[in-house]
Amino acid sequence: MTPIDLRSDTVTKPTPAMRAAMAAAEVGDDVYGDDPTVNALQERIAGMLGFEAALFVPTGTQSNLCALMAHCERGDEYIVGQMAHTYRWEGGGAAVLGSIQPQPLAQQADGTIPLADIEAAIKPDDAHYARSRLLALENTWGGQVLPLPYIEAATALARRRGLATHLDGARLFNAAVATARASGGDPRAHARQIASHFDSVSVCFSKGLGAPVGSALCGSKAFIARAHRVRKMVGGGMRQAGVLAAAALHALDHHIDRLAEDHVHARVLAEGLHGLPGVTVVPPQSNILFVDLAPDKAAGAVERLRAAGVLCNGLARLRLVTHLDVSGADTQRAVSVLRATL
Ligand SMILES: *Cc1c(COP(=O)(O)O)cnc(C)c1O
Repeated sequence: MTPIDLRSDTVTKPTPAMRAAMAAAEVGDDVYGDDPTVNALQERIAGMLGFEAALFVPTGTQSNLCALMAHCERGDEYIVGQMAHTYRWEGGGAAVLGSIQPQPLAQQADGTIPLADIEAAIKPDDAHYARSRLLALENTWGGQVLPLPYIEAATALARRRGLATHLDGARLFNAAVATARASGGDPRAHARQIASHFDSVSVCFSKGLGAPVGSALCGSKAFIARAHRVRKMVGGGMRQAGVLAAAALHALDHHIDRLAEDHVHARVLAEGLHGLPGVTVVPPQSNILFVDLAPDKAAGAVERLRAAGVLCNGLARLRLVTHLDVSGADTQRAVSVLRATL
C-alpha cells in the first residue's frame, strides 16, 4: 500500500486538471514582464487580497525575504515571533542578505506576541539602537488561526508607532476557511479582511492549495517595485514561469473551498486518537494536528509509524498535516495505523 504522507501539505502532487492547466498555459519571458499567465496571477491575487500589486516568486522563503528587504534598510530591525517562520526557519536570510536585525519575541500558546512585549521592544530613535521598522506576524501559525481582534490591535499598535506590517500568510487561506467555518461567510472575504490590516502579505500556492511551486507577495505598487529588485538580486527572476502560475491560478479557482475537507480530516485524526493512554492531542484549528507522546510512546514512534505506512515528523510531539492527497479513506486508515502503533 502506498504510504499516507502526513509530513507536510507541501508533498501534494499536481492533479490531472492542474497539469492540464499548466500544459495549456500561455507563456512569455517574465523577466521582460511578457508572461501573460504570470501577469494574470499577480493581478488576481493582488485583487483578491485587496492590494495594488503582487509579485510571483518561487518560494515562501523568498517571498518573505523580498518583503523584509523591501520594508527594511540595513541596520533596521523587524519584530517577529521566536517561533515564526520568518525568524526561525529561513536560514537567517534577512540578517545574512539584508543586514536586517531580527528582534524575536516569545509567542504565547496561540501564536500571539503580547502587545506589551511588542510595545516594549520598539526602540527609541537613538543612535544606540537599530531602527525598529517592521512587525511581522504569521497566520496560520502551527495550524492555529490568529484571532482577528489580536491582528487588529497588533497592527494598529505597529502603525501608531510608525512600524510597517507584514503577514507571512503561507497558509492564509487555511486561516480564512477555518474562520468561515466558525463564523460563516466566504473564505475569500475572510482572507481579504485578514490581509486588509497589513502593508504586505505573502501567500504560498505550494502548501494546502496544492500547486507544485510558487508563492506571491502582495503590497502597494511602490513596495512591489522594491521587492522586484530584491527578487532579481536573490536570483528569483524566472522566465516562462506561466506554467507554474497556471497551477497557482488553477489552485485559486478550485482548491480554496476544499481546504475545509483537510480541516475535517485533521479533526477526524484528532478524534480517532482521543483517549489513547500516553497520547495527548492538541485540538486542531485547521490542517495541522500536534500529538504529544509520553516518553515510552515517543521512542522510535516516527520510525514505527513509517514502517506501518504513515509518514509524519516529530519526536515527542508528532506533527500530522492533512492535504489534497489525503482522502477520507486514507484518514481512516491513518487512524487505525496510529492507534495500533501508538
Ligand atoms: C512553508 C512556509 C514558508 C516558506 O515557504 P517555502 O516555499 O517552503 O520557502 C513560510 N512561512 C510559513 C509559515 C510556511 O509554513
